[in-house]
Amino acid sequence: METTLSVIPLGGVEEIGGLNMTAYRYGDDIIVIDAGLMFPDASMLGVDFVIQDFTYLLENADKIQAIFLTHAHEDHVGALPFLLKELDVPVYGTALTLGFVQAKLREHNLPKRRLKRIKPRSVITAGEFRVEAIRVTHSIVDGVAFGITCPLGCIVHTGDFKIDPTPVDGEIMDFRKFTEYGEKGTLLLLSDSTNAEKGGFTFSEKEVRRGFEDIFSKAPGRIIVSTFSSNIHRIQQVIDVAHMFGRKVIICGRSIATNTEIALDLGYLTLPPDTLLEMDQLKNLADEEVVLMTTGSQGEPMSVLSRIAVGEHKHIKITEGDTVVLSAKAIPGNERTIGKLINRLFKLGADVIHEKVSEIHVSGHASKEELKLMLSMVRPKYFMPIHGEYRNLVTHAKLALNMDIPKENIFLMENGDVLKIDSKGARKDGKVETGRTFIDGKGVGDVEEMVLRDRRRLAQDGIVIPLLTIDKEYGKLASPPEIITRGFTQEEESPEMIEEMVALLTEAIGAMDKEVVSDPDMLKAEARRVLRKHIRKKIERRPMVMPIIFEV
Ligand SMILES: [Zn+2]
Ligand SMILES: [Zn+2]
Repeated sequence: METTLSVIPLGGVEEIGGLNMTAYRYGDDIIVIDAGLMFPDASMLGVDFVIQDFTYLLENADKIQAIFLTHAHEDHVGALPFLLKELDVPVYGTALTLGFVQAKLREHNLPKRRLKRIKPRSVITAGEFRVEAIRVTHSIVDGVAFGITCPLGCIVHTGDFKIDPTPVDGEIMDFRKFTEYGEKGTLLLLSDSTNAEKGGFTFSEKEVRRGFEDIFSKAPGRIIVSTFSSNIHRIQQVIDVAHMFGRKVIICGRSIATNTEIALDLGYLTLPPDTLLEMDQLKNLADEEVVLMTTGSQGEPMSVLSRIAVGEHKHIKITEGDTVVLSAKAIPGNERTIGKLINRLFKLGADVIHEKVSEIHVSGHASKEELKLMLSMVRPKYFMPIHGEYRNLVTHAKLALNMDIPKENIFLMENGDVLKIDSKGARKDGKVETGRTFIDGKGVGDVEEMVLRDRRRLAQDGIVIPLLTIDKEYGKLASPPEIITRGFTQEEESPEMIEEMVALLTEAIGAMDKEVVSDPDMLKAEARRVLRKHIRKKIERRPMVMPIIFEV
């Protein structure tokens, strides 16, 4: 019997910024590309982050040959510690990717022995697969795409990329390799769709430098730059421009300090002498000599920048003359929080510069023209847009259609869909189990969808707790009910309102059958129904009602 190749996006084709993970299966061999997490949106209250449901991988654990990582962004490696707790397989990645991953594994007390360092153009054999790393440019250093060869043919999996002709580290994208795959004939291309809706080319990371030079030349006092902690090139550029203007850089914040250290150790950052100082040296510097680098560009509540903005940072208080630069894009969903942060900083007297008013951020993802270039280099028979919301995937698919890839050869997938390829061709066929696992703290799956719904309701509509003391023998109230409310406005929980609820409950319970009253479950349900109806009518809210019953 002929062997089929299955390509299964386990995540990353329904959401932007998360859960990227793709399984390739040929016969009894499986390889996995990336294992990303997703940061929760505002509706997932109290959830730290979201990872993939690993069911498919765990059910096929014995077949998994290796995991390959394209780059060190959280949406590609963040779920790895959780996966490695369950699977013992080798993990391949470039030096910086593994540097970041290693720090993560340490936090989870996981050994690093399965991490295997590769370089661009390294070729790894994993079962029936041969996997070649291909250099790409992106908003993190040391990113690669993968050329995957199996007996049926070749696949190119781009990972995240942009075509930056002037990368900060001079590591040009390996156009030659991509064309080579095009020349020898590539069966399938999976390509980054994040910016498929953007026309033209994405600006080079080097463009940001000019924006910084402009700001640094005018800033009267301290400069505080916040960016993503993994954007080593951005950090490098800030350090270089600081040096040019005779300023010193102090890194402030745990994740950015760790990442900077790793990048320095591995030689991905070059420091002009005496440019990087420690926090305790801040007091020895004049304001116009200072650059503070932090994270928190998304308004994350625990970040250094947010703490500075609410005046809660130990060492840094904003004063007139400070310039705050938010060198990052607002991740969709964070706009309001970031807006608040900007307002607060202005209120404290700082000048705030963000991407809407100045060229201080460029995207790490390919725009339309670059995506077309990728398609024309690889010239695949089949095409699968990945990494994006549905709209991005559709737009990317249209680009491919315009480049003469026939419609029936383009596959728009949902998470878990299986694309099967054999000598007869490619087709969508079946689905494997996928889903999301919510992580709250360090445990896996300790928050369920139901818990989330409760949290949402608590946040929106508050909670009402009737305390009912029941005389079990007679099946009636032993004393008048008491009612506690939380999350209501003062007028909503006015004494009259409470009294009304007490009276209503007393009356309702008085009219109930003895059996209902003496059965705690039935009584709870009835009390809940009566109160909910009343509250909905009175103040148009749907709070959580949690009766507590005491029996005497
Ligand atoms: Zn990504
Ligand atoms: Zn990325």
